[in-house]
Amino acid sequence: MHGLMMDTPLLISSIVEHADINFHDREIVSVTADESLHRYTYKECFQRVRKLANALEKLGLSEGDRVATMAWNDYRHLESYYAIGGAGYVCHTINPRLFPEQIIFMINHAEDKWLMIDPMFIPLIEKIASQISDVKGFIVMGDEGSTKDTTLKNVISYEALIKDESDQFEWPLLDERAAMGLCYTSGTTGDPKGVLYNHRATILHAYALIAPDAMNLSNRDCVLPVVPLFHVNSWGSPYGAMMVGAKIVYPGPKMADGETLYNLMEEEKVTVSLGVPTVWLVLLQYAAKNNLKLNNLQRTIIGGAAVPESMIRDFHDNHDVFVQQAWGMTEMTPLGTVMSMKHGMEDLTHDEIIALQTKQGRGMFGVEMRIVDDNQAILPWDGVAFGALQVRGPWVCSDYYRLDGSADAHTGDGWFDTGDVAKIDPEGYMQITDRTKDVIKSGGEWISSIEIENTAMGHPGVAEAAVIGVAHEKWTERPILIVVKVKDASVDKQDILSFLEGKIAKWWMPDDVIFIEEIPHTATGKIKKTALREQFIDFKL
Ligand code: AMP
Repeated sequence: MHGLMMDTPLLISSIVEHADINFHDREIVSVTADESLHRYTYKECFQRVRKLANALEKLGLSEGDRVATMAWNDYRHLESYYAIGGAGYVCHTINPRLFPEQIIFMINHAEDKWLMIDPMFIPLIEKIASQISDVKGFIVMGDEGSTKDTTLKNVISYEALIKDESDQFEWPLLDERAAMGLCYTSGTTGDPKGVLYNHRATILHAYALIAPDAMNLSNRDCVLPVVPLFHVNSWGSPYGAMMVGAKIVYPGPKMADGETLYNLMEEEKVTVSLGVPTVWLVLLQYAAKNNLKLNNLQRTIIGGAAVPESMIRDFHDNHDVFVQQAWGMTEMTPLGTVMSMKHGMEDLTHDEIIALQTKQGRGMFGVEMRIVDDNQAILPWDGVAFGALQVRGPWVCSDYYRLDGSADAHTGDGWFDTGDVAKIDPEGYMQITDRTKDVIKSGGEWISSIEIENTAMGHPGVAEAAVIGVAHEKWTERPILIVVKVKDASVDKQDILSFLEGKIAKWWMPDDVIFIEEIPHTATGKIKKTALREQFIDFKL
């Protein structure tokens, strides 16, 4: 027997409607490419969201069409999120830091119809325009003058596009399982893979993230998401923050600038922030150098990479800020675990709490976790046994976009294999101990070890090449290249680095090249990365 409750679909447009009525005077403050500080209210934001939705409709888009964005965190990007997804299209966020081949691949694979770009990315898009010829046109996210010097065809500025549109829009009553967001991840090998979010997952995830034991977001908060809107929907913050009506502060292109971050935090009275460890290092260094304290920030949610203990202590000791480590993935919308204290932990010592904070957090309702051994046998949560970390739940991806059956390929029984190796303690706190996926995460961005290896193998003096990540204070991890020379070849570090130059992205360049006699292999002849990582565990850059 069905219950007798209304069958209201969970749609992101309902956040617009709710927040508009309840939080209309709440502020959104942004640094943008052309303004040092832009400030307006939720009400003005939603008027412009509706104008944009009207304009997009007039471009002739159909339900499910992909509209891509390549932009920093600011108010126009936020508006695009709601207008595109709310109107029934799919907001495909592109990471501008990827290199051109990947960007071309993603735009073509997604079959993006329109591209919305920050003015500073015009030169980048001009260079690749001939290779993304199915894109119908470009919207430059600036004022009417922002398109004047471009060679792009069919281009219009954001402000010109929405100027004469009505600020009323009838949101379509979509199926809550309809797609509304698309984000490619290069966190696995091969071509980037698209994760296609739907309304339902996004809303459920937003409910989960605002909960007290997760991000604990409320109307009284002021949120500074430094995590980009092109990284897994900025960890869902646009939805969670607007659901509760929190003040939002965006750093625009200045997200790696300690001074800007510090000033925004102080002047706007930011209470909670979100980002990867690398950006917080920049902020903490700026504060230390200038003898400054963060006076309003209460907690910071740090994820995307392991948080060093020294960072947790610095935030605590010098700024009285509580670090909540979180773990997740693009494939998980992204939240899987968040650190928060449990009942009965009131008497833990300071060091015991710090030890908890260095773990990746505990599971939230909505994500089931398990760890399994090589034979898929489930391992106990005893804080000792470690194995492949697998997850499932309503905001975990079931398949990659246009790669049927791919996401479930590892387990075959409905779980998603994260590629992380973890242990879980009896209280449910999860700790990543290694990863099975062969990639390196540097400053929150993926580097493909395999691609560097394949490129290096093109050098005539290289018999075998392996790339592993080693610890780095600022970037968390940096790649080093380990090479076995062709017999009698005379080749040195500089030869190899010069050979790689121009063939891989600059920031992928290995920080060191090390020559060894033999690279360890598995029984099937693959490079044994775990053994290699073990061998270089104490390697200092
Ligand atoms: P992405 O899809 O780019 O968000 O990357 C997800 C991956 O980043 C995870 O599978 C982990 O390998 C890594 N990761 C995310 N959060 C953490 C964390 N708190 N500690 C360690 N690794 C993390």
